Amino acid sequence: MTHSLEDINAKVKAIAARNPVYTEISQWVGDLLSTTVEASKDFNLSDLKLDFDPIPKAWYQGKSFLNPEELSLDWKKISTLYERLVELVKKREDGHRQAEGLLKAIEEKRNGAPVVMKAVLTSNFEAIEASANALNVDSPVLALLVRLSLRPSLLIIAQAVLEHLDLNPWNFGHCPVCGSAPRLADFSGEGGKRRLHCSLCETAWPYPRLRCPFCENDNREDLSYLRAESEEGLRVDLCGHCDNYLKTMDLREIPGPIILPLDDVATWHLDIIAGKHLEDKGSASS
Ligand SMILES: [Zn+2]
Ligand SMILES: [Zn+2]
Repeated sequence: MTHSLEDINAKVKAIAARNPVYTEISQWVGDLLSTTVEASKDFNLSDLKLDFDPIPKAWYQGKSFLNPEELSLDWKKISTLYERLVELVKKREDGHRQAEGLLKAIEEKRNGAPVVMKAVLTSNFEAIEASANALNVDSPVLALLVRLSLRPSLLIIAQAVLEHLDLNPWNFGHCPVCGSAPRLADFSGEGGKRRLHCSLCETAWPYPRLRCPFCENDNREDLSYLRAESEEGLRVDLCGHCDNYLKTMDLREIPGPIILPLDDVATWHLDIIAGKHLEDKGSASS
């Protein structure tokens, strides 16, 4: 979903009001995000071949519409946007040290595509980590910048695909458009229906509340959640079967829309709560 600069500004302000700890980081991610929105006019669909007629049978059986690894994108434009984002890293403490490594990160190419960009498209976190270590940059910063540089292309593609897909028959835990895992969930409307938000292309799709999107387990005894203390509308859903978790924002209590890169960083304490829970569980069972 595309968001306007106004949406982004409003979200940055709302995050600072809700949880002042995130004021600075959300402002910075907001600046990065605004840069991707401004750059999106340089991207278009013309050189992308998408065939919607008919919708492949395999899609109904859970094969995502696209394979992000196979997308031929305009790597030159994406790299230019990436370099603009690196400029914004320099504004941060320790930014100058990182900028050099971050620029080097996109130099290694295979068939014209920067290797690290392919790694983000295929959710290959080990490769991103290895590349970050080799270049002495923070892995989350590298992953964020690459993902944001891909964002205009991915959002345009997802939007085009969604114009042709009815998501109602899709009841899988991975993204109907690109096949990536969800990164956040929300509850909205009467009864709080759940939607999952793709970690890569930001597509949102409906999914039952009492089922784990990672292993499709729906045994209620394995499904639980933790709340963030003193913060209404935020929780972490946990699956005791596969030990994955998903952060959830209740949009009946917190104003939407979800803007994934911002809401993700502004709920970092939920990742910590979930990590701690899984750690305690691991040490209790060993
Ligand atoms: Zn997706
Ligand atoms: Zn599970």
